[in-house]
Amino acid sequence: MIDLRSDTVTRPSAAMRAAMMAAEVGDDVWGDDPTVNALQARMAALTGKDAALFFPSATQANLAALMSHCQRGDEVILGNDAHTFRHEAGGLAVLGGILPQPIENAADGTLALDRIAAEIKPDDPHFARTRLLTLENTIGGKILPQEYVTAAAALARKHGLGLHLDGARVFNAAVAQQRTLHELCDPFDTVTICFSKGLGAPIGAVLVGTHDLMGRALRARKILGGAMRQSGLLAAACIYALDNNVDRLAEDHANAAALAAGLKQIPGLGNITCATNMVFADIPAQSCAALQEALAARGIISAVSTRTRFVTHLDVTRADIDTVVAATRAFFSR
Ligand SMILES: *Cc1c(COP(=O)(O)O)cnc(C)c1O
Repeated sequence: MIDLRSDTVTRPSAAMRAAMMAAEVGDDVWGDDPTVNALQARMAALTGKDAALFFPSATQANLAALMSHCQRGDEVILGNDAHTFRHEAGGLAVLGGILPQPIENAADGTLALDRIAAEIKPDDPHFARTRLLTLENTIGGKILPQEYVTAAAALARKHGLGLHLDGARVFNAAVAQQRTLHELCDPFDTVTICFSKGLGAPIGAVLVGTHDLMGRALRARKILGGAMRQSGLLAAACIYALDNNVDRLAEDHANAAALAAGLKQIPGLGNITCATNMVFADIPAQSCAALQEALAARGIISAVSTRTRFVTHLDVTRADIDTVVAATRAFFSR
């Protein structure tokens, strides 16, 4: 099977499972799981932050970060396409009592600086207190220009806002630009990084940040039920991913580029775009269901819509890409 729905579908390899089975463990709520501690120390060092905390999911790490920056009734400015706004079931409002102030994401994923400035509320009891700006990198596969991030951070600082990055796929951004994680995380107080996407771990995310905020995040994680016990079993998979699955993200990016190039040759398909490990293609509405079925008949799992997203990952090979292009071409030349 070739599963292009998401990079979350990766399965732990035999070697990753062996690393998990061999992990030394302890009770992480007491702070004495050596494997979790090793992962956290390594992520703090890699990102240049004071501390790191292991979470079951990036959704929970984002929520804990927002709860660390904001009190109930405070406001966060974020993109209307942001995962934290659109794809986390409104957790920030449900559990954090935090008011989201969405701003339209531009085509490149950025939030216009003048739009951010216009939404920072003055100190007036009519308004929620604007406390935080949250960006996402990569967003829809797209890399935020680093000059933009620097400018947005300067704006946030000028207005006394905290700065959080949903960097679920920040490793993709780092590998694609040949920049260090430290450089990409530097402008932010807190950063969420997911291990169960392209890095291929079954479970897990890490939040990194400043000493004070991470102290609050530890409490928020407890409230959210994310404090785990012998979680070194899971952290071992993440350490394995750091050792083995980071540099190879470049293969996923090359495979996505090859997929986009192949799809562009097919008449009947419109507006193909590609960024890091994601390809988006416009599929005529009347063809969506039939194309998804035709691909499935060739062992290709996809979620076809009028704007279809194909995602490459470590369980998709270059030969698989050729299979997908051939199957799509065959469909449209019927
Ligand atoms: C997948 C994703 C998350 C959530 O990750 P989970 O570990 O699945 O909860 C958060 N933000 C972004 C940008 C993501 O892509």
